[in-house]
Amino acid sequence: MSSELTRMTAAELSEALSKGDTTATEVTQAHLDQIAAVDGKVHAFLHVAADQALDQARQIDEERKKGTVRSPLAGVPIAVKDVFTTTGMPTTCGSRILEGWHPPYDATITTRLKRSGAIILGKTNMDEFAMGSSTENSAYGVTHNPWDLDKIPGGSSGGSAAAVAAYEAPLAIGTDTGGSIRQPAAVCGIVGTKPTYGGSSRYGVVAFASSLDTPGPFGRTVLDTALLHEVMSGHDPMDSTSIDAPVPPVVAAAREADVSGMRIGVVTDLSGEGYQPGVLARFAEAVELLESLGAKVTEVSCPHFRYALPAYYLIAPSECSSNLARFDAMRYGLRAGDDGTRDAEEVMALTREQGFGAEVKRRIILGTYALSSGYYDAYYGKAQQVRTLIIRDFDAAFGQVDVLVSPSTPTTAFRIGERADDPMAMYLADLCTIPSDLAGNAAISVPCGLADEDGLPVGLQVMAPAMADDRLYRVAAAAEAALTGRWGHPLLEDAKGL
Ligand code: GLN
Repeated sequence: MSSELTRMTAAELSEALSKGDTTATEVTQAHLDQIAAVDGKVHAFLHVAADQALDQARQIDEERKKGTVRSPLAGVPIAVKDVFTTTGMPTTCGSRILEGWHPPYDATITTRLKRSGAIILGKTNMDEFAMGSSTENSAYGVTHNPWDLDKIPGGSSGGSAAAVAAYEAPLAIGTDTGGSIRQPAAVCGIVGTKPTYGGSSRYGVVAFASSLDTPGPFGRTVLDTALLHEVMSGHDPMDSTSIDAPVPPVVAAAREADVSGMRIGVVTDLSGEGYQPGVLARFAEAVELLESLGAKVTEVSCPHFRYALPAYYLIAPSECSSNLARFDAMRYGLRAGDDGTRDAEEVMALTREQGFGAEVKRRIILGTYALSSGYYDAYYGKAQQVRTLIIRDFDAAFGQVDVLVSPSTPTTAFRIGERADDPMAMYLADLCTIPSDLAGNAAISVPCGLADEDGLPVGLQVMAPAMADDRLYRVAAAAEAALTGRWGHPLLEDAKGL
């Protein structure tokens, strides 16, 4: 029974709980057992909150006996990226500089999860301050892809994606600044969404690049991801960029799964050189399939997307250099060299030297340079202009089609260590995902089969205009249903190597 519970989707668990076929306590214990069994190999979690999770589960069971059900996710376990503040648990952001920090408050999304009755299992591994595409930049060790333990799980939300792919949790949350939800979802064979910027609250999410950071859901199915999307999203007065509008009807769209008459644009600029043949083959088949379901498919060019990566690597480091200035050895976590012989500035410098890893330092230096007087216009200013051109490309495209599609990533999961010393090669992992972050619109990655070369998962990316997140789920659910018939459901089969 216990392993059956971990194989169930969140929607199935929700139904079993409401019928009384199982209890939140049983479901939680089954997932804690799975974590105990496999996380030594996967290392998805930085912190497992077993006692708190079981306490929470018992409370949900008590409530249900009395007839109170908080939401469809009441009693369903979830893993939380270690970038969300959580009371009663550490929050490290994968960094030494926050080692031992226990936040005094919950992120708005943490609060919403708790209120919904979802059971928080613990905190998941991530690239330090969400900077990376492989989770190798964590100060607390690498996470392994459950499909092949020698491969990266993607990043920066690699721990969350791996936890869901390894059946340690049916659901997880992450953040997407340049692709950190969709890219790990793609390479771990699960579903992941970057909601519209401002559609999900950043309050209590440790900031990386504030004009880009977007929290979002992971699940093994499109419907599960939509259920979580609905619970975690919506207006938050604590976040000044939060959109004051109803959450798009994502669950209804996932259930409808109907693309007939929908206009789908294939982005011609997101393919070609540098893309793995097996990725392009699965993508082309997915597009054909959508066409056979009644969608009208056309090709669309977004000529400025080729500048998205360089623009991102000026804007994101610039914002990070400002955001990470708060780690000054005075307010949080680590303080190094405070032995009475050094002044405050020396302690600050030593703490930042010891507390930050190489990639974080690289970006702080780059961002500080790009923002300095004399260079601001040439670098940061130019990058912002490019951002506007990318937004215009999207506007023109969405004048012709309802959604855009592309592969989620140029390649499948690469080997651990392969790109660790080559930042440029690492940055290429987000080639397809960054345009939607710069424009602030919505995008999803849904599995579309396995590449022939290596048998590893391939993701189909669907992009929609801001606040049209429901379209993502409509297309992704249609693709998922059709692909299940063709290849089986790769994610619901046993992940290899576990
Ligand atoms: N890989 C990208 C980066 O390192 C994206 C990270 C993210 O989305 N958090 O910046």
